[in-house]
Amino acid sequence: MPAQVENFAEEIKRLRRCNSDLVSILALPAMWSSGDPLQIVHTLVDALLGMFGLDFVYVRLTESVGNAPIETIRVASTAKELRKTLPRPQEISEALNRSLAHNPQKWPARITIDGEDISTVALRLGLNGEIGVLVAGSQRVDFPDQTEKLLLSVAANQAAIGLQGSRLLSQQKEVAIELDERVSQRTAELAAANAELQLQVGLLQQIPVAAWTTKSDGRPDFVNQNWLEYTGQQLDYVLSGPEAWMTAVHPDDRERISRAFWEGIRSGQGFTTEARFRRARDGTYRWHLNRVVALCDAEGNLLRFVGTATDIEDLKQSQENLRQMTETIPEMLWSASPEGAIDYCNTRLLDFTGFSAEEVMGDGWTKLIHPDDIEQAARAWMCSVTTGSPYRVEVRTFHASDRTYRWCVTNARPLLDQQGRILKWHGTVVDMHDWKQAQEELRITQANLARVMRVSTMGELTASIAHEVNQPLSGIITNASTSLRMLAADPPNIEGARETARRTIRDANRASEVITRLRGLFAKKSATVQSMDLNEATQEVIALSLTELQKNRVMLRAELANDLPLITGDRVQLQQVILNLLRNASDAMSSVDDRPRDLLIRTEPDNNDRIRLSVTDVGLGFEPQAAARLFEPFYTTKNEGMGIGLSVSRSIIERHYGHLSASPNNGPGVTFSFSIPCKPEGLTSDSVFPSQVPPESDAA
Ligand code: ADP
Repeated sequence: MPAQVENFAEEIKRLRRCNSDLVSILALPAMWSSGDPLQIVHTLVDALLGMFGLDFVYVRLTESVGNAPIETIRVASTAKELRKTLPRPQEISEALNRSLAHNPQKWPARITIDGEDISTVALRLGLNGEIGVLVAGSQRVDFPDQTEKLLLSVAANQAAIGLQGSRLLSQQKEVAIELDERVSQRTAELAAANAELQLQVGLLQQIPVAAWTTKSDGRPDFVNQNWLEYTGQQLDYVLSGPEAWMTAVHPDDRERISRAFWEGIRSGQGFTTEARFRRARDGTYRWHLNRVVALCDAEGNLLRFVGTATDIEDLKQSQENLRQMTETIPEMLWSASPEGAIDYCNTRLLDFTGFSAEEVMGDGWTKLIHPDDIEQAARAWMCSVTTGSPYRVEVRTFHASDRTYRWCVTNARPLLDQQGRILKWHGTVVDMHDWKQAQEELRITQANLARVMRVSTMGELTASIAHEVNQPLSGIITNASTSLRMLAADPPNIEGARETARRTIRDANRASEVITRLRGLFAKKSATVQSMDLNEATQEVIALSLTELQKNRVMLRAELANDLPLITGDRVQLQQVILNLLRNASDAMSSVDDRPRDLLIRTEPDNNDRIRLSVTDVGLGFEPQAAARLFEPFYTTKNEGMGIGLSVSRSIIERHYGHLSASPNNGPGVTFSFSIPCKPEGLTSDSVFPSQVPPESDAA
């Protein structure tokens, strides 16, 4: 065969092979229809390796696509067997990586690995190599020729398109997966919300009151069994319209509840109100507390309303019973908030004062009280409200029927919770006017009795008074006649007459003194509280009684303490008490003849701020059963006695905030003693001696 023909035939053969290679390469994408990047890379490197008799094919991707690794290298098996010297894939990869780090323009056409020279063709995958790089290597001397270069670049393009496609595909898959996840998450959330809703509806079904829900526009979308059973309504009837349920409401309450309902729905605030609902079972209307609240989502959007109706008929009944009780109880009652504002007065109190409930609520109660008493009452009330201590005042309260003020005692006590906080104040008002007046009258009677006692005491003392005054009087008479005689003598005894005249004056003064003392004791003097010396007052009484005591053969001994403090009291009244005790002691000893009639009067300090006076006799004493009665008015064991001395004495001592008592002695007789505070607080003339004593008519 001529060389030209041979060349020609060779050329045809080459072209044919080239053509079939090209067809094979172009057929590759048909195998990549699954878009699996691992398969793309593997079929690519396998095809190229076989097609061009290469020693290795290397693919490196810029980022992993799907399941394909970043680096793939395939080394020809024949090459491995024939040429033991061919480097291992690892070494090729390392050598290529070193070279490929550079700009693609500068990639070398040959690399040397382990002394072996290898021709290489490096091709970018993607227009700018954004997908990766493909390197084909062969130790063949003529590698690569023109055709091989061309075919390799077509293969690289095909692979780039395939990989690009699978990259898009995998991105789409990722998006799809993410979408799937979000859908399932949302589905789970919705399922949970639904379960929650079911739970709530289940709860509403089970709670022991009538309950329902409405849409945000007020249309009912659920009612529980309790509602249906109580009202006897059918479910579809209730759900048929927004106001169907209201047919169960008492006709008198319907308009009011409808207004409250729509107002609550419109405002989104819900409502709370009370109304009567008809019970289907017996046709009775029972009071219910209706509460409707809005249900909102986390963002605060109104979802629906939930309502309940709680039967409060029994509660109302017991409230009504309580109200009836407070209204029928024959007392004036009131109550106040913990802060002290009046919130209730019963009708009896309002009738008494003539004010309306509205007028006295809050701090209106001051209107009921006499202007002069308001300040005292308000101060006590503020004190109680802040400390929680019971409240008690005696104030003049307006009495409507006769338009006067009457003395009333107002009391209040706090109702406390378990922690001791005040929940409420409950109070009473008690009209004490008549009692107070009786008390006043009693005082006047006692004052009169005291006067009677003085008169009677005076009657008994008349003899001794006469005796006391008689003595100086007869002295005056004797002295006066002696004086006259001396003047009539010749020559007149001037000096003697002067002396007897002096004695006359002395006796006259003595008589005058006695009378002054008696006047002091029995004069119609009104009570005066003053600072006084009890010893001095006692001595005066002793001086007055001495003659009488001597006549009764009584031996008086006085033991008056030196260091006695001054006391505040009514001198004349205390002297009356002492006089009475001395006289009683003397009386008790009048029949004692087997022993000296000793009488001891003592004064002494008692504790720090009190003093004591005691009168001890050796008389007959009294029977134990009489002890309790001694101080009763009109109790007497004496023929001529009046039985008021001790009763009046005790009330005098008590008005001085003291105490008068009697006790039997160890030996014969008894001891009467009183103890009074030196400076009793609040002691005034009024308190020891009632100011309203009518003027005494008889001269004392
Ligand atoms: P009167 O002296 O007019 O009887 P009083 O009230 O002073 O009235 O005394 C009442 C009674 O108390 C006396 O009647 C007497 O029985 C008894 N009594 C009073 N003082 C003594 C006393 N010192 N010893 C025994 N009994 C006394």
